[in-house]
Amino acid sequence: MAKIINVIKGTKDILPQEIGQWHNLEQKALEIFTKYGYQEIRTPIFEATELFARGVGDTTDIVNKEMYTFEKSDRSLTLRPENTAGVVRSFIENGMSRLSAPVKLWYKGPMFRYERPQAGRQRQFHQVGVELFGIKQPAADAEVILLAVNYLKSLGLNDLEVEINSLGCPECREEYKRKIKEVLKPEFDNLCEDCQNRYEKNPLRLLDCKVESCKTIFAKPEIQKVIQSDFICEECAEHFSQLKKYLDKMDVKYVVNKLLVRGLDYYNRTVFEIKSNNLGSQNAVCGGGRYDSLVRNLGGEDTPAVGWAMGMERLNALLPQIPPQKSDAYIVSNYSIEAMQLAEELRKDGFNVEFDLSNKKFTKQLEKASKVAKYALILGEDEISKGQVSVKNLDTSVQETIDRKDLRSKLKNDKNS
Ligand code: ATP
Ligand code: MG
Repeated sequence: MAKIINVIKGTKDILPQEIGQWHNLEQKALEIFTKYGYQEIRTPIFEATELFARGVGDTTDIVNKEMYTFEKSDRSLTLRPENTAGVVRSFIENGMSRLSAPVKLWYKGPMFRYERPQAGRQRQFHQVGVELFGIKQPAADAEVILLAVNYLKSLGLNDLEVEINSLGCPECREEYKRKIKEVLKPEFDNLCEDCQNRYEKNPLRLLDCKVESCKTIFAKPEIQKVIQSDFICEECAEHFSQLKKYLDKMDVKYVVNKLLVRGLDYYNRTVFEIKSNNLGSQNAVCGGGRYDSLVRNLGGEDTPAVGWAMGMERLNALLPQIPPQKSDAYIVSNYSIEAMQLAEELRKDGFNVEFDLSNKKFTKQLEKASKVAKYALILGEDEISKGQVSVKNLDTSVQETIDRKDLRSKLKNDKNS
């Protein structure tokens, strides 16, 4: 026998018995996002590497360590590690800034990051996300958070925690960065290697560090004093307090977490995360924030924007599997042509119909029927010659022979009951 080829580490098949919940996640997304006026966009899975280097930021883990990059015809290409950069590229390229604001888009699909696979962390995983362009007011931040919460609620997920923070604007953040660096300087040698590397380029990211020894350092009173200080300028503070007001009025429960920084370089003002209490250490299901400078940085007109992304594998882990739906009918017959004809007629009428393609024994066919369908439709020589069909309810085992012309209403009544 030939050697088996296995799935690549960090990637997974989504099998037929699991697909029900995926369909549910996708259908609810379409339903809820449409309700809020978001339209779906599908961008390519690979883009120019430079898009992510500029659009995600070269101080991020994603760009530094996690990208799947390859060369083709002298171009450097990268499998998308996230989709905001791709959506922004498309927004600019397709002149969407000329559309009247807000422009609201959503997407779903696979993302690729080279990281250590573990529960809730894969190398190919899926995200569903939204982006709202053209609105600088805090109502936009509130809407996308409300949308995330309502999407999660529609899936039956209620035991979730919304954390919010404000990173201020590039101006007010400078002073904060300086203070953070200053207070952490005496501890520099005790920080982890990642933190030491980020210290100069992106000191705020240190606060997000998951390494225990770093967390202990950040818990020290003199460092906490800086972290907990209100550094943001008056305008940013007003934006943040308005956002909180909207969330209060909309009954969205949240906590302010001053350590919440988020991995991407482009965020300003609002950042948020939604965590589940039922996932182990990879407990973040949703992350997002405001990114007012990204469209300009990628060559577009100045356009404020806010959005989020959710990990669909993590949503799946919180939800029960949905078993595959049974077909309406399974035709049991050794007359394949007649069976195929009847199946086609019924399919045209909207029924899901299967039949055995190989003329197996009736008992074998019935066995299969009882696994996959609600009714067995038995089409023997007798039935064919009389224009009839024997209908067996596979739940109750009750069987009756009826005229072919009455079959549709029989199946329909049951389908609607
Ligand atoms: P984390 O801190 O868990 O690495 P992140 O900040 O890198 O998350 P984002 O880039 O904000 O994550 O992506 C949004 C969401 O996508 C996350 O909250 C998570 O649910 C999901 N996600 C991110 N990376 C992975 C992965 N490798 N495997 C599965 N889901 C992921
Ligand atoms: Mg990550």
